[in-house]
Amino acid sequence: MKYIQDLVKTLQGGTNTNGVFLGLLTLVTVIAAVAHLIFIFLFDSAGVAWMARANVASVLVYALSAMLIQNGRHMLAMALIVGEILLHGILAVVVIGWESGFHYYIILIIPVAILSNFHQTWFKAVVVTAIGVLYMVLDFIFRQATPLDAVPETMLQGLHYFNQASTLVILAMLATAYYRLVANAEARLRHQACTDPLTQLQNRRFAMEVAQHEAAVFERGGRPLALVLGDVDHFKRINDVHGHETGDTALKAVAQALREGVREIDHVARWGGEEFLMLLPSTDEAEALAVSERLRQAIEQIDLVHQHQLVPISITLGVSLLAKGETIEQALARADQALYKGKTAGRNRVILAGHGS
Ligand code: GH3
Ligand code: MG
Ligand code: MG
Repeated sequence: MKYIQDLVKTLQGGTNTNGVFLGLLTLVTVIAAVAHLIFIFLFDSAGVAWMARANVASVLVYALSAMLIQNGRHMLAMALIVGEILLHGILAVVVIGWESGFHYYIILIIPVAILSNFHQTWFKAVVVTAIGVLYMVLDFIFRQATPLDAVPETMLQGLHYFNQASTLVILAMLATAYYRLVANAEARLRHQACTDPLTQLQNRRFAMEVAQHEAAVFERGGRPLALVLGDVDHFKRINDVHGHETGDTALKAVAQALREGVREIDHVARWGGEEFLMLLPSTDEAEALAVSERLRQAIEQIDLVHQHQLVPISITLGVSLLAKGETIEQALARADQALYKGKTAGRNRVILAGHGS
């Protein structure tokens, strides 16, 4: 059942709204078919022929609806299910009484209509209002009316609580699925807002937030914070000679090498086109230089081949350590100056920034 898989995927982190709705609908049709099958025997043994026959029809409707959903005829399936719930609810209330609790299912049409993939809001509003009014009218007419067919009191009580419990379970299922859907969508958006799409590294905006946070920790007497700004050498040439796509592949390879070359607590961000920023908390000058040199070597060793031609990649890195009383912007500017020095000195090297400037 393809939509059940969508439903399961959503519970695990997916954001497919339509799939969730159809998954829930499929699940409900299967459960409803089984429940109505049990009702056939129950009503038959209680001698309520009307209700037994109605449940045969219900089982057929749900089996048909499940098939229609699988074949993409969602609207027709929805109409059949809503029709069944309404007719079955009204019939049960008339024949065996309000106490049977079959009217509870009518309430379920309201959230289902709102969550359905009908685009017209006015249509949803009409359905919701109509169902609400119908429910209250049924309550007014039948709550105290005498049923046509009296079923044993214990059976009536059993039906009442079964129907009540089923309705509550379905409501909880709906709410859970949609809560997961919203939570997953939110998590995905949050991730997208912080991530560079090409390299999957942190983006500049998020890196700046992290940097401000790390700077605040340092100001409060934390361990030193090292900033490493890297810029790929002659990157324009890579694009010009091998094409923009190879350029992108090179950027991804550089990003991976940088990510793999630092510790879990370090941050690697794509700072600009072919510029990267590494934030190394709890790292002193000697360690920062050692890490940067390791990163430089790792990038030099990237084995990127385009059309049987090796694409040489190298990076120049500028390193600064955040000084007391200094802003992140100032420390970044020093790292940038060091990087520039590295470029003019011949590239593919690590330069430590001077203190203050
Ligand atoms: P230098 O060694 O001085 O840094 O030389 P460079 O060629 O790397 O420097 P420059 O800043 O002149 O060129 C950077 C190039 O990076 C220009 C731009 O087209 C390219 N670039 C920026 N973003 C991307 C991207 O996402 N993909 C690709 N393929 N190229 C990009
Ligand atoms: Mg650049
Ligand atoms: Mg460059």
